[in-house]
Amino acid sequence: IKATFSGIYDEHERVSGFITVLNDVTEEERIEQERREFVANVSHELRTPLTTMRSYLEALTDGDTWKNPDIAPKFLGVTQNETERMIRLVNDLLQLSKLDNEENYLRKERVDFTDFFHSIIDRFEMNKYEQDLSFERQLPDKPHWVWIDKDKMTQVLYNVLSNAIKYSPDGGTITCKVDVKGKMLNVTVTDQGVGIPSDQVDRIFDRFYRVDKARSRKLGGTGLGLAIAREMIEAHDGKIWANSKEGQGTSITITLPVMHQKRGDA
Ligand code: ADP
Repeated sequence: IKATFSGIYDEHERVSGFITVLNDVTEEERIEQERREFVANVSHELRTPLTTMRSYLEALTDGDTWKNPDIAPKFLGVTQNETERMIRLVNDLLQLSKLDNEENYLRKERVDFTDFFHSIIDRFEMNKYEQDLSFERQLPDKPHWVWIDKDKMTQVLYNVLSNAIKYSPDGGTITCKVDVKGKMLNVTVTDQGVGIPSDQVDRIFDRFYRVDKARSRKLGGTGLGLAIAREMIEAHDGKIWANSKEGQGTSITITLPVMHQKRGDA
């Protein structure tokens, strides 16, 4: 709380009273502090790939190195990777700024979540991964209707499933589960991966928070995937959280309000 204290003067410039203004600045300061941290993080995240690119380009333009078939393709590959990372980062930042600015930017429609989730898992199953992975579906055998923006929800599930894959061991199983509890739909994605230390589990939804920075970078992460997921889920009046055991695996749970059943729905 900030208190501003000022005197009230009469026509003879004598103090005739005081005004005290009490201001709750803690919230303002917190937002300002977060903003500053965010800008510092963004600058750092962009500077890292840029300085890497600069040193590799300098090495290439030093003498005839760019003609060296053993070195040049490798160095160009590094600069290409770093460029890709910056594009991903800027795209994620644009997503977040849209989430901050537009209140009604969601295009919601009535969607059968069971069918929708099946089609997303199908897409992931088609891909090839570095490790041997299997997907287990524990989905209901009937439709469950939700009111969602399909593009945004695709991105949320994409971010969560990509993490499950990134942090899974060879031969791991990723379990995708949906069930309904009361008025909420519960969606859980569980992996058998490295897990997250218990004191950091809640922080993984913060912007740029990464348990292992070097590892996340190596895997191409921006540290924004789950922050975007959380904002999108909250815009759908849902919640998202993580449970994890180090060395055993992680599960991410998302809840979404279910729609009233229309007559004729099973
Ligand atoms: P990143 O781009 O680094 O993956 P995210 O916001 O998606 O960023 O995730 C933040 C951090 O949370 C990751 O860097 C990782 O440390 C941790 N994390 C997320 N999902 C998992 C998971 N399934 N298993 C283990 N750690 C995870």
